[in-house]
Amino acid sequence: MSYDLAVVGGGLVGMTCAALGARVGFSVALLEATAAAPGSDPDPRAYAITHASARIFSALGIWPEVAAASGPVETMRIEDVAGRGHIDFAAALVGEPALCHIVPHRVLHAALMARVATQSGVVWWRPETVTGLDATQDPAAPCRLRCASGRSLAARVVIGADGARSPLRALLGLVPQVKAYDQRALVATIRCARPHLGCARQWFLATGPLAVLPLAAPGDYALVWSLATAAAERLEALADVPFAAAIEQATASACGHIEAVTARRAYPLVSQHLTSYLGNGVAFIGDAAHVIHPLAGQGLNLGLLDAATLIEVLQQAPRGQLGARATLRRYERWRKGENRLMQLAMDGLHHLFTSTRMPLIAARGAGLDAVAALAPVQRLLIRRAMGLAGDLPAVARAGNG
Ligand SMILES: Cc1cc2nc3c(=O)[nH]c(=O)nc-3n(C[C@H](O)[C@H](O)[C@H](O)COP(=O)(O)OP(=O)(O)OC[C@H]3O[C@@H](n4cnc5c(N)ncnc54)[C@H](O)[C@@H]3O)c2cc1C
Repeated sequence: MSYDLAVVGGGLVGMTCAALGARVGFSVALLEATAAAPGSDPDPRAYAITHASARIFSALGIWPEVAAASGPVETMRIEDVAGRGHIDFAAALVGEPALCHIVPHRVLHAALMARVATQSGVVWWRPETVTGLDATQDPAAPCRLRCASGRSLAARVVIGADGARSPLRALLGLVPQVKAYDQRALVATIRCARPHLGCARQWFLATGPLAVLPLAAPGDYALVWSLATAAAERLEALADVPFAAAIEQATASACGHIEAVTARRAYPLVSQHLTSYLGNGVAFIGDAAHVIHPLAGQGLNLGLLDAATLIEVLQQAPRGQLGARATLRRYERWRKGENRLMQLAMDGLHHLFTSTRMPLIAARGAGLDAVAALAPVQRLLIRRAMGLAGDLPAVARAGNG
């Protein structure tokens, strides 16, 4: 079997890439190792989805149903507990109804699965684990992927969307630069007595950042609490009631009494980036190319922009040059700098807010207060974080959804 594109990895980024590719006329094989049914993926994460990502989902026709099951973030309060600074952001400052939307993983996963199932031009290879790749130097000759089942396929371009541990990357001998944070993010859904009123809150505690993000129901919040591995393990081991008490204490009961805690899971945190996103006829996107700290909720958004950019670049390339180095380099040049910038920003924020050095603590408190006092600087920060600025692919720009 032969395809224009073979997307390895049917996570959120891989499914988006496959659907975008087939939408503009490419024949696409989408290979996924697991066999989960739509909506059954138990991943408890909820994602802050930017306007740019929402436009990509609009182009795929799934945004209305996804938005209906999400929590719009109308305001955001960020507090530095040790430095005593704080800053408030409001969507109204940039004339938008929401800064971003908090979308549960299962909602997005089910919507994309359904979208891919109805998109002509995409063929699911599922469950199917990619175990081998024969790439060629000749841009006109396709790559061949071999699978654990013994089946194989040919594709002009192979797209690695197989996540942070990317077996495809290993097959090509590509090794990312990795820095472990020695932190884990504890994720849970919490039901609280106090309605969130569309406000997301984040505290930079001495132990690491803790965020509560508004979900669709007025008392439901997504919790993301990043802290040192040993401290996270102690909290992970607690039963729900003492775990809820620890959250209440850390947040000074800002959400009121916590009535229920569900869907708890811990994620080890790393910062990771591939030096080159490319192999012969192969391009990496999403977590397979870069992993960043989740403190600003940007990792998936970057991966979705990778997917949209790669498809735009391939769509503009002459048919015989799809897998050519020059074509794939255009994608890499476009995205690598943007991703690196975000990674550096996350690393910088992480170090700034985990520092115990007094001058840094004082400076960051003053810094937050200074930004809070400057509306133009706030506007700039908000627009960037919302995906309203930057070098976006056409499908993610305003008016092109
Ligand atoms: C705690 C936490 C909170 C986060 N919050 C946010 C947020 O608010 N906003 C945001 O934008 N981002 C957030 N992120 C980041 C986001 O979760 C990731 O960037 C995103 O899920 C990556 O998706 P992906 O599709 O690239 O990779 P994955 O989800 O890892 O998907 C990879 C897929 O490839 C498949 N696969 C692997 N190997 C093979 C193989 N050999 N053959 C076939 N298939 C294979 C896997 O089964 C999997 O389905 C957060 C991350 C964490 C840890």
